[in-house]
Amino acid sequence: MIKVKNLEFTYAGAGEKTLKGLDFELGKGEVLGFLGPSGAGKSTTQKILIGILKDYKGQVKVFDKELNSLGTDYYEKIGVSFELPNLYSKFTALENLDFFRALYSVSTESPEKLLDMVGLLESKNMRVSEFSKGMKMRLNFCRAFLNNPDLIFLDEPTSGLDPVNAKKIKDIILEQKQRGKTIFLTTHNMNVAEDLCDRVAFIVNGEIKLIDSPRQLKLDRGKKVVRVEYQEQGKMEFKEFDIAEIGSNQQFAALLREKQIETIHTQEATLEDIFIQVTGRSLI
Ligand code: ADP
Ligand code: MG
Repeated sequence: MIKVKNLEFTYAGAGEKTLKGLDFELGKGEVLGFLGPSGAGKSTTQKILIGILKDYKGQVKVFDKELNSLGTDYYEKIGVSFELPNLYSKFTALENLDFFRALYSVSTESPEKLLDMVGLLESKNMRVSEFSKGMKMRLNFCRAFLNNPDLIFLDEPTSGLDPVNAKKIKDIILEQKQRGKTIFLTTHNMNVAEDLCDRVAFIVNGEIKLIDSPRQLKLDRGKKVVRVEYQEQGKMEFKEFDIAEIGSNQQFAALLREKQIETIHTQEATLEDIFIQVTGRSLI
């Protein structure tokens, strides 16, 4: 769906390039996440992909065509959710969706169905000015699905949401993925990247440091040890064993046989641990 080669971008008046030669692809039905700290260039990349920032260098192909050659019908085919909600605060939730819906010439989803999906149906007649930040985020999010698009861009879809609503949004994204939708998303939250993305691009300072699946990253770079916690003379002790050939490790077997075992866990690096390992930067 998307093919990007050597993408560079510099904001007018800025001293240095914000994007320094990005290469990536997004296949049909895939969820690709851009994971990186604030200021890395995630939103800039999304704005280029949706045609808002035009003076980029390099090649950006969407639906097999160079982005700059796509006309306004591009907006009929994609769904976009921006990082900061852009809504009409004097309108109700329903009026907002009705307004944006009228901009499409393709057939659209029922606004009430979308509001229900994000848990806002009961607030449909409330003015957006009375909405909490989380409610605005959810209304903004469901806008992306009005035209039932196959290609969806979500900029920080769960930021500012409490855990319950963040889970709701994550479940909706997973359901869209199951329906075969192609999704580009940005996040600085490793759990969002891990739970939703087929592949994750680590982006720092306008450069992609690595792209891989979260699972593969953990397999390749996670610590491969088993940590056993056990009681000894009323005290909690632990030992770590290499997971390779653990079945024939006599010390491990003896420990299991002779001690009162409390927990046994494989030690897994988190995606953030791996991010720091690879990029030298934390996600915050
Ligand atoms: P992210 O989404 O990863 O937090 P952004 O893409 O928003 O990062 O920003 C990347 C860099 O570009 C930052 O250094 C930011 O300050 C700069 N930037 C973003 N928007 C503008 C703008 N309109 N004009 C100039 N610089 C900008
Ligand atoms: Mg951003």
